[in-house]
Amino acid sequence: MDLMYRSTRDAQNQVTASQAVLKGLAEDGGLFVPERIPGLELPLEAFADMTYQETAYAVMRQFLTDYTEDELKYCIRSAYDEKFDTPEIAPLREADGAYYLELFHGATIAFKDMALSILPYLMTTAAKKNHEDKEIVILTATSGDTGKAALAGFADVPGTKILVFYPKNGVSAVQERQMVTQKGANTCVIGIRGNFDDAQTGVKRLFGDEALGVALAKAGYRFSSANSINIGRLVPQIVYYVYAYGKLQKTGKLRAGERMNVVVPTGNFGNILAAYYAKCMGLPIDRLVCASNENKVLYDFFRTGVYDRNREFILTSSPSMDILISSNLERLIYRMAGDDAAENARLMAELSAKGSYTVSETMKKAMEDFTGGFATMEEVAAEIAGLYAKTGYVLDTHTAVASCVYRAYREQSGDNTPTVVASTASPYKFARSVMEAIDPSDAGMDDFALIDALSRISGTKVPRAIEEIRDAEVLHDKVIDKSEMETAVREFLGMR
Ligand SMILES: *Cc1c(COP(=O)(O)O)cnc(C)c1O
Repeated sequence: MDLMYRSTRDAQNQVTASQAVLKGLAEDGGLFVPERIPGLELPLEAFADMTYQETAYAVMRQFLTDYTEDELKYCIRSAYDEKFDTPEIAPLREADGAYYLELFHGATIAFKDMALSILPYLMTTAAKKNHEDKEIVILTATSGDTGKAALAGFADVPGTKILVFYPKNGVSAVQERQMVTQKGANTCVIGIRGNFDDAQTGVKRLFGDEALGVALAKAGYRFSSANSINIGRLVPQIVYYVYAYGKLQKTGKLRAGERMNVVVPTGNFGNILAAYYAKCMGLPIDRLVCASNENKVLYDFFRTGVYDRNREFILTSSPSMDILISSNLERLIYRMAGDDAAENARLMAELSAKGSYTVSETMKKAMEDFTGGFATMEEVAAEIAGLYAKTGYVLDTHTAVASCVYRAYREQSGDNTPTVVASTASPYKFARSVMEAIDPSDAGMDDFALIDALSRISGTKVPRAIEEIRDAEVLHDKVIDKSEMETAVREFLGMR
C-alpha cells in the first residue's frame, strides 16, 4: 500500500508521492503532508557504516513509495555525484564542542543543493510515471539560495522551464551574481522591488489563480514549485540528519539509542521541519533548537504561542533567513492540531487576514520539543570572529546565527548532549559580512578581493561555484514591481 499525501487544508485532497512532487502546492493553497510518518526500517547501528547515497535510499524509499527501486536509485545516483566537492556529501566537522554538519558542498554552496540536486530527477520521473503531457514550469521565490540551486538543478532539463523571483535589494552580492549569470535556454531570473515575503506571497497567488491555470493548460504548461513547500524538497532533507547520527556513532561520539540535539538556522521552517520528521521516524533527537536572526517571529511563537508577522521586516547579514511568513510552519501546525485540516485552514485564514494567529494551549504543549532562540547581527559577527580566533574554523553568517544560539542555550541549560549544528552555507557566499566580522578594516575591499582574503585566512580553496561567476556575463537584468509578476510569467512563456 502506498503512503498517501494529504493537503494540510483539505483532508479529502489525497495524492501519491509522485503526484505531490509534481503539483508542489495543493490546489486549495495547502501543503502536502504524508498521511503518517513512517518509522526507520533499519536498526540505528546500521546507519554507522552507510554512505550518503545508501542513507538517502533507506530514508526516501519510505516516503516516496510509488517510485520503484530503480527510479529512486537513479534519482539518488544522479543527484549526489561529482557535483559535490567531497564524496562524503555532507561532512561533519567538530569545532569548540559542537558538530557542524556541512551542507554546503554542492554546486551552489548552500544547503539548498541537498534537496535541489535531486528534485529535478524526482520531478521528471514523476512526470513520466503520471503520463504528464504538459511542460512543467517551476515558479520560485527565493531569499537568495533556493533560486540559484533550483536554476542549477533545472537548467536545460528537457520538459521544464524555470522562473525565479528574488528581492532586488535583499540578497548578498554573490547570491545575486550567481543568479543573474545563470545560463540555460529554459531559465529566467527577475528582481522584485520588495522583500522575500512579497515574492513568496506573489508566487503563491499565481499558483492559486484559476484563470491563469486554465490559460497555462491551454498553452501546454503546468506550474510546479521548487520551494520547500514541495514535499520533494522536504524528504531529501530528512536524510542528512540520519546520516549525521550515523557519523556520530561511527566516530564514537555516541552509541546507538543515545540522543543528539539539533540546532537549525531557520527561515521558511523547511530544514528544521525535516529534522522534526526525522525525530518522528524514531531518530533519537532530543531538543530541536530553532535559531532566528532579528526577524524572530518563530522565537516569539515558540515562547508565546502567538504567530505575529505584523512587525518591521529587517534586512540582516543572514538574508536567507529574512522571512516573516515561514511557509513550512503550516505542516507543524497541522500536526500539532492532530492532523486537523479544518483547524489548520482556520488558522491560516487568520494569518492571511490579520497577519497573526494564536494556537491552543494543547497545541503549544505539543510543540515542547522545540526551543527557540535568536541572535542579533552584532552577536553573529562576534560568533564568527570568536570561533575563528579559537579554532581557525570560519562560519557563514547563517550558521553563525545557529552557533550563537546554541552557545547561549548550552550556557543557560547546562545541556551537554552531543549537538549537530546545521551548517547551511559556505562562508564564501557571504564573504563581505564574514570578513568584516573577522577584521573590520576589510570594509573597503571589493567582493572578490574579500573572497581571496577569506581563502588566505581560512586556508581553504575558493569553491568552484565562486570561480565560475568571477568573469561570467550578466544574462538576466529585469527588475519589476510585485504587481507585475503575472505579466512577467506570461511574457516568459510567450502567452498573451
Ligand atoms: C534557506 C536558508 C536557510 C533557511 O532554511 P529554511 O529551510 O528556509 O528554514 C538558512 N540558511 C541558509 C544559508 C539558507 O539558504
